[in-house]
Amino acid sequence: MIIIDGSEGEGGGQVLRYACALALLTGTPFTIENIRGQREKPGLMRQHVTAIEAACVIGGAECSGLAVGSNSISFRPGRVTPGDYHFAVGTAGSTGLVLQTILVPLMTADAPSHLVIEGGTHAMAAPPFEFIKRTLLPVINRMGPAVSARLVRHGFFPRGGGRIEIDIAPAPLRPIEGIERGAALSVQATAIVAGIPLDIADRELKAARKNLADWPAEAFATRQLPADQGPGNALLIEARYEQVTEIMSAFGKLGIPAERLATTAARRMAGYLASNAFAGPYLQDQLLLPMAVARGGAFTTVKLSEHSRTAMALIERFTGSRFRVSAQADRHLVELIA
Ligand code: ATP
Repeated sequence: MIIIDGSEGEGGGQVLRYACALALLTGTPFTIENIRGQREKPGLMRQHVTAIEAACVIGGAECSGLAVGSNSISFRPGRVTPGDYHFAVGTAGSTGLVLQTILVPLMTADAPSHLVIEGGTHAMAAPPFEFIKRTLLPVINRMGPAVSARLVRHGFFPRGGGRIEIDIAPAPLRPIEGIERGAALSVQATAIVAGIPLDIADRELKAARKNLADWPAEAFATRQLPADQGPGNALLIEARYEQVTEIMSAFGKLGIPAERLATTAARRMAGYLASNAFAGPYLQDQLLLPMAVARGGAFTTVKLSEHSRTAMALIERFTGSRFRVSAQADRHLVELIA
């Protein structure tokens, strides 16, 4: 039984999701205390409960203490059973983060799975659908499995109501080598609005262009969704290379000017472009778990995030593997060394 202090390191929900995945992958039970101990409102939120429930369902696991607000749970994994599953967060909590909990166990299972996940698809502090489809999954698929994703309906904060579908054909994982990006292929910035004025999207693109001055005018586009999928707004800034696609995002929030959100996302993209790294600030922590299962691999990334440091420490505890991080001129090299 591994005992985890949920306030250590990044101290948020990611510790829980990775602990559940690692427990299913290694057959090791764990107890976590001080859940989300570094957050303003600690304890489990609805989306974390759904993610852990999903892990219990696919992994025949038993979990005690599972309730919204709970500060401690014990999780005892069973056998991972692939199949057809449907999970609903019930709020705008992230569908992508439910997927983050169960994807790696299901993609190393012994038969295919089909998942329907309902909740938020474009919400703060989580991977938007496009990031899953175009940034994460192509790297995962290069490791062996065939995982495809479909966006059926957008779900924005606070309403939710989004729906994604995922098909997973498992395979043993090969180590990845994500060192160079390869040649630049295309760039694109899309401002999406649903049920709110299109003018907001125009303002976002204008602010983004200021920070991506060498991108061509035709790379900036607005997209209006049916009003019943809103209210909502997202900005997706994408750079496609031969070996990797990076997407930086911003999500409209009441009280925060659209220009400010767009500027932050565009600057983040400019920082990634100025480095020579394969993985941006979010892809890095999401590659660590598949890498651990593949028992090897390496990738370059921008500055190491606290999410990545925390995930590495957790993976090392569950698997005994060791990561090595070394600084290079304008990037960091992350390797799994044992
Ligand atoms: P908490 O509310 O405790 O912060 P959480 O469960 O909402 O918890 P985190 O623990 O912060 O979330 O984990 C967020 C996960 O989502 C990380 O894996 C991170 O890489 C990913 N993520 C966050 N923002 C983005 C983004 N804009 N694009 C892609 N991935 C993202």
